[in-house]
Amino acid sequence: MDYRVPISAANWKMNMTNAEAEALCDGLEGIDDIGGVEIVIAPGFLQLETVARAFEGTKVWVAGQNMHSQPSGAFTGEVSPTQLAQVASWVLIGHSERRQYFCEDDEIIQRKLAAAQLHGLTPILCVGESQEERENRRTEAVLSRQVRAALAEQPVSEDLVVAYEPVWAIGAGEPATPQQAQAAAAHIRAQLEELIGRERTERTRILYGGSVKPENVADFAREPDVDGALVGGASLDADAFITITEEIAAAG
Ligand code: PEP
Repeated sequence: MDYRVPISAANWKMNMTNAEAEALCDGLEGIDDIGGVEIVIAPGFLQLETVARAFEGTKVWVAGQNMHSQPSGAFTGEVSPTQLAQVASWVLIGHSERRQYFCEDDEIIQRKLAAAQLHGLTPILCVGESQEERENRRTEAVLSRQVRAALAEQPVSEDLVVAYEPVWAIGAGEPATPQQAQAAAAHIRAQLEELIGRERTERTRILYGGSVKPENVADFAREPDVDGALVGGASLDADAFITITEEIAAAG
C-alpha cells in the first residue's frame, strides 16, 4: 500500500551520554538521504537537544520516549508535553517498559495520548501482549483492549502511529515471526477501522518492534499490514540502524 510511507524509528531507551549521543549522530550522518521512509529517533530526555541539533534541517524527527499528560504543575521529575514539544515533534506512548516498570495502565496511557495530540506531538502508541497472555491465547483480546482504551473518548488525530511490540520479543534476541507480526497488525487495523473508520485506518502506520535487526527487518517490513519498525537495541549501532532504515525503505 504505497500511500503509507514506512517508518524507521529508534528507541535509545536509557542509554547514551551526551558525548555518546553525539558520536552516534555522527555515525548516522546522511541517513536522511534514504528516500521513501520517515525516520524517527527517540533519545533520552537529556539527549533530545543534542539529537535535534545534529539533525536540524533534515527530515529526521526527534521523539520523546515518554511524557506526563499535564501541561505543567507539581509533578516532580516529570516532563510535560509543552516542554517536550519545544524540542521534539513525536512521542512514544505506552511503551511496554513504561507499562511494566512504571505502572502505566490503560487510563494513564489514554490521558497521555490525548495530551500528545492536544500539543501537536505525533504519538507512537505501543501495544503488545506478554508471554503468558500469548500462551493463554489472549493476544487479540489484549491488543483490542489496549487500542480501544487508548483511543477512548477522544478525537484521534490524523497522524496516529501504532507499534505492535510483543513484550516477550523486546530485548529478547528472538523476534516474533513475520506471520505473528502480520496477524497482530491486521487485528490492530481491524480495531482501528471500527474506531476511526476505514479511510483513516488505511492511512495509519502500524510498526513492528521486538528484536528487530538488519538481518530480519525486511521480513517484517514486507508484510502487508506492517509499515516499518520500532527498534531498540539495534538502533544503538549506527551502521545497523542505517541498514535497517534502508531495508524498510526498500520493502516499502
Ligand atoms: C523497543 O524498545 O521498543 C524494542 C523493540 O527493543 P528491542 O529492539 O531491543 O527489542
